[in-house]
Amino acid sequence: MQQDIIIIGAGIIGLATAERLLIQGAKVTILERDKAGKEASWAGGGILSPLFPWDYSDAVARLASYSARQFPAWVSVLQQTSGIDPEYEISGMLILPPFDGETARLWCSKQEINMEQHSACNIHSANNNIEVHVQRSQDNALFLPDIAQIRNPRLLRALRSRVELLGGKIIENCAVNHFKTAHQHIQAIDSSCGEYAADYYIVCAGAWSKEILGIHALGLNIRPIKGQMLLFKFDVPPVRSIIVQNDIYLIPRRDGHLLIGSTLEDTGFDKQTTVAVRDYLLQRAQAIFPTLKGMPLKQQWSGLRPASPENIPTIGRHPDIRNLLINSGHFRYGVTMAPASAEMLVNEITGASQPFDTTPYQAGWSKH
Ligand SMILES: Cc1cc2nc3c(=O)[nH]c(=O)nc-3n(C[C@H](O)[C@H](O)[C@H](O)COP(=O)(O)OP(=O)(O)OC[C@H]3O[C@@H](n4cnc5c(N)ncnc54)[C@H](O)[C@@H]3O)c2cc1C
Repeated sequence: MQQDIIIIGAGIIGLATAERLLIQGAKVTILERDKAGKEASWAGGGILSPLFPWDYSDAVARLASYSARQFPAWVSVLQQTSGIDPEYEISGMLILPPFDGETARLWCSKQEINMEQHSACNIHSANNNIEVHVQRSQDNALFLPDIAQIRNPRLLRALRSRVELLGGKIIENCAVNHFKTAHQHIQAIDSSCGEYAADYYIVCAGAWSKEILGIHALGLNIRPIKGQMLLFKFDVPPVRSIIVQNDIYLIPRRDGHLLIGSTLEDTGFDKQTTVAVRDYLLQRAQAIFPTLKGMPLKQQWSGLRPASPENIPTIGRHPDIRNLLINSGHFRYGVTMAPASAEMLVNEITGASQPFDTTPYQAGWSKH
């Protein structure tokens, strides 16, 4: 592939797309408004699965699971070329009641996903100090042993390094302002660091994608949904697996860090963290894991997810402008979906066959 390609946004999606294009021989420039990999992709938890996978459509489940399966090989290449270990770990995910056990079991069996049912006392011994409040004695927790996690800030550093080693150019502090269009063709883009022209333009600007596209966004409905996170540090990992209950999750890192997330706040582009949310997350997490009481909070932060209806990203070509593409709107699972989304976007440009039907990821252009 000989083309010149401009990618707008250097989050996990922009960087993963750049890496695939560079491997195909394209010349790639990424324009990043701020610093590469510091927005939602940095802020996330790095769980490589939807939280309650059975609650999503096939379009989400298929993309997420196909993508999650690419991580071991992808991470190994990134680690070898960059020397940075993104700490891919198959830690498993324990889902505590309440949830619809019957639906969950049927879904796992249909998808051939390994699962174990745990009674309250088993959970206690397997996961150290967690408290399990069950409404009914027959409510079991569900353990999905094959779910993995990644340390996303490290993944981003490794990916950035690989993109640069492959010859990709990342221009930071360069905000794209608008597209210069003629005859349904983008001729150039205007940015805070000058005008750029290329054969193709790919919008990977996360929560800001719709704003950047302006009138070219058509019916695209990508908007920011804030999530706040808390961080604690223990000497050793205090729990063994990812633990989820309703909207709260605990993620143990190898070095004893414990992340607590998260919220879904519809507050526009405001990234402020709040005391009220800190107290809410703390109280909910302590109810599951009482050892947290009295532990000093190390950090609190927030990120803006690129929310899309039904969590289905838009991946592919603009319906009217052939040299404009988008890879965005991955909402809660953009880290998980990154390698497969990049693969699908690059297939769209090269004309290679897709791993499965990609029609659902085009529907965003016409949604309202
Ligand atoms: C609290 C939280 C927890 C999460 N947990 C998980 C999880 O456990 N697992 C999972 O898979 N996903 C998780 N996610 C979701 C995931 O982080 C996102 O879906 C993913 O990061 C989206 O990546 P992106 O590259 O599209 O967006 P971003 O990382 O936001 O990158 C977009 C980039 O575009 C740049 N940009 C914006 N405007 C312009 C412009 N005008 N010009 C140039 N550049 C521009 C931005 O500066 C930014 O760097 C979580 C998200 C949050 C916030």
